[in-house]
Order: sequence, then structure tokens, then C-alpha cells
Amino acid sequence: MPIPIRSKQDWQALDAAHHLHPFTDYADLAAKGARIISWAEGAHLHDADGRTILDGMSGLWCVNLGYGRRELAEAAQRQMLELPYYNNFFQTAHPPAIELAHRLAEFAAPDYTRVFFTGSGSESVDTAIRMIWRYWQLQGQPQRNVIIGRRNGYHGSTIAGASLGGMKAVHAQLAHPLPGFVHIDQPYAFGEGAGLDPAAFGLERARQLAQKIEEIGPDKVAAFFAEPIQGAGGVIIPPDTYWPEIERICRHHGILLVTDEVICGFGRTGQRFGAEYFGVKPDLMTVAKGLTSGYVPMGAVLLGARVGEALASGGGEFFHGYTYSGHPVAAAVALEVLRVLERERVIERVREDTGPYLQQRWRTLAEHPLVGEARGLGFFGAIELVKDKASRERFPEEKSAGLRCREFCFDNGLVMRAVGDTMIVAPPLILDRDGIDELVEKAWKCLDLTAQALRN
Ligand SMILES: *Cc1c(COP(=O)(O)O)cnc(C)c1O
Repeated sequence: MPIPIRSKQDWQALDAAHHLHPFTDYADLAAKGARIISWAEGAHLHDADGRTILDGMSGLWCVNLGYGRRELAEAAQRQMLELPYYNNFFQTAHPPAIELAHRLAEFAAPDYTRVFFTGSGSESVDTAIRMIWRYWQLQGQPQRNVIIGRRNGYHGSTIAGASLGGMKAVHAQLAHPLPGFVHIDQPYAFGEGAGLDPAAFGLERARQLAQKIEEIGPDKVAAFFAEPIQGAGGVIIPPDTYWPEIERICRHHGILLVTDEVICGFGRTGQRFGAEYFGVKPDLMTVAKGLTSGYVPMGAVLLGARVGEALASGGGEFFHGYTYSGHPVAAAVALEVLRVLERERVIERVREDTGPYLQQRWRTLAEHPLVGEARGLGFFGAIELVKDKASRERFPEEKSAGLRCREFCFDNGLVMRAVGDTMIVAPPLILDRDGIDELVEKAWKCLDLTAQALRN
């Protein structure tokens, strides 16, 4: 049965009656009614009012190849007819999962040779945590089980991911965050490093890891786990000094380094992975989102030799896996995504052409009176809304500057996300120069409207 045709009002009424949305204030939603997105093509959404909206967020950081890709739909359809489901448990496998493991190892060569499949980013994080614990058990050091994350980090929404993540509001809703997850401060130069040289600030924040390891006891720490660039936290780009120092500290203490590449992976920085951009080699990487360009759910953990070989060489069964680990339809779509990335040189274009162009255009937003900083990297962008450019003073919270800006964006044909008063974008990697011009022009216009509204 096809999805029926209904009016916007009918969709909103049914939605309000039955559908509990993720990450949503339900009272707020009930007052306004949901925005209904009907269809999409390329980098543009079309809503139930017939408006066209440039999707500055690639859905939720995932539709990297844009909407309406026939080759991805056909890959899914072919696989559904051939073998819609089988599992990879109990010494069984199927060609799509095997081929994808092979292609991902090729894509991530030479350092990542093994792959474990999951159904999402949150599951990838859970799996990585299970692997870290298992690794140290196999090493005969089960007491090494504390994992260090960062305040304002995001690692998904399961209880483990939420505990490892450092979102205050999220922790407040956990009856008790899981024990054994501790946090250090984030390398957020604009928000927390005022007046400091960014290079020195980056080192200082990295060295908090060394202090934390000493505090806990080096023989109790299993791993450090972080996003190369924090996405949900507000596109926080660490100074160049940060990641090499983090890697040095991890190696010095022999603890595992994990980068959560759910957003950075598959080209958003202009390199294959965020870790590659920053020149570090983590032991494990978690991926999802761009792996299937969001067309179907899938995630994975990519393993370097240290953990990969330890797990693969035995010690009994690894009691972990998901019904949909290596789902054949998702694997077929991911294989097609890898083909498109290569055929259309998507990552090279972001690195050499459209990424630099986006960054050059995005930086012009810094001239707007409302903007304290315009930063970005690859296909990431952020702007900081401030009351006073020189002092970086923010608007009072009750002004909801970020949320108002977000509303103006929606109403004027642009999806830009608000993280407090930080406005962020992460457009589809296929956005061309005209699309980038449209993005920056619309952003400027919405900043004007926001400035006007904040004056009243
Ligand atoms: C989105 C995200 C996750 C969670 O992925 P889901 O597919 O929503 O479970 C984990 N880590 C990072 C860095 C993310 O951005």
C-alpha cells in the first residue's frame, strides 16, 4: 500500500495523536505542529506547504550524497529481491556483508583491516565499548575498564552512549549515568579559551587527559573516546595542537584511542576520516551516518591491528552482536555509496574545491554584526551569535537567539541547526558552488532577520 495522500493538517493531527518524536519538547511541538517534509531531491527538501528548503544539515549529518539517488534505491531493491535478510551469527555469512567488509578494509587501508557491523551510530559506540572491555580482559588486565570521554561530547543515545557522552541535560535524565565513564573538558576555543593562544589552549585541554589518567591510575584506564570534531556539541574544531598531543598521551600510557567518526567519516573533513585529517591513528573508529548516506540504517566499528587481531585470534566467544549486524540491504546500499564516493571523487572535491570554497564564503559571515566567530572545516560550518563582538558577550538566555535564528532559517528556505546560540551547518558533500552561494546568502539574510527581531 502506498503512503496515502493527506493534507498537512491531517498529517499534523495524526502526528500529534500518536507519534512521540526523538529529541523533542512535546509541549512545544503540540503548540506548533510538526513540520512535514514531503520529498527531496539533491540538496533540497520540499515541505507540505510546497516550499523548497536547502538542507544545510544533510538530514542529520548523514545524507552526504544528497537525496533522490537512483543507484542507491536500485541497489536496495536488487538486494531485497535476492536476499532481503539473513544473519551473520553462528558461523554464517552472506556476500553483501563480506563484500562490504572487504571494501571498507580497502577504503580504510592500510591501518584498518577488520570490520564489525551494527545498525546505527549508537550501536557502534556500544560495540566499541564492549570491544575495549573485551580487549583488556584478553590482555589479562580486566581492571583496566575506565573510559574517558569529554564534556559536551556526543556518542549517541543508548545508556552507554549517553553516559560516555558529556551532555549535561542528557545526564540529568539518566537515573544514574553508568559507572566507569569519566570526562575531561572540550577543546572549545571560542567558548572556553577566551584570551588564550589557540595552540596553547589546545595543548592545555589535551593535557587534561594526562592529569585525569594520573588521577584514576594509569592501570585502570582502558581508553580515551572522542569525536575528531564535535558535531552535536556545536561543530567544535580543536586547535591543531590538540589531537597529536592526545595520541602521544594515549600511547605513553598504553591506553586505547577511539575516534567516533559517525559524522567525520566518509569525507566531511575532506579526508576519509577525521583522525586522518588530524594526522592520528586511533585503535578503533566508529562509523554510521554517511556510511549509507542515511538511505538505510547501518553502522560499523573499524579495527586496527592491535584490537582487531587480539579479538580475532580467539579467547572464546565474543558474546555480542545485533540481529541486523551486516544487514544485506544496508550492506548493498553502503557498497553503492563507496562506489559513488570514488566514481564522483566526492572526497577529493570537498578537499580541493568545494570545501575551500565553502570555507572562504562561510568566513564572510563573520562580518555580520551578530556574529562573534565564523569557523569551519571541510563541509562543516558554525557561527557564534553574540550581543557584543569584541567581548563575546552572549544574548540573555530568554532571548533564545539561536532558536529564533533557526526559525527564520526554516521560514526562509534553509535548514541551519541551533546548539544554544551556535548556528551550525553540515551540508551534503555534493553541494556545488551555486548551492554554497545560496547557503551563505540565505544565512546572511536570516542573521539580518534575527538581529532585527532581537532589537525589539
Ligand atoms: C549521530 C551520532 C551518534 C549516534 O548515531 P545514531 O545513528 O543516532 O545512533 C554517535 N556519535 C556521533 C559522533 C554522532 O554524531
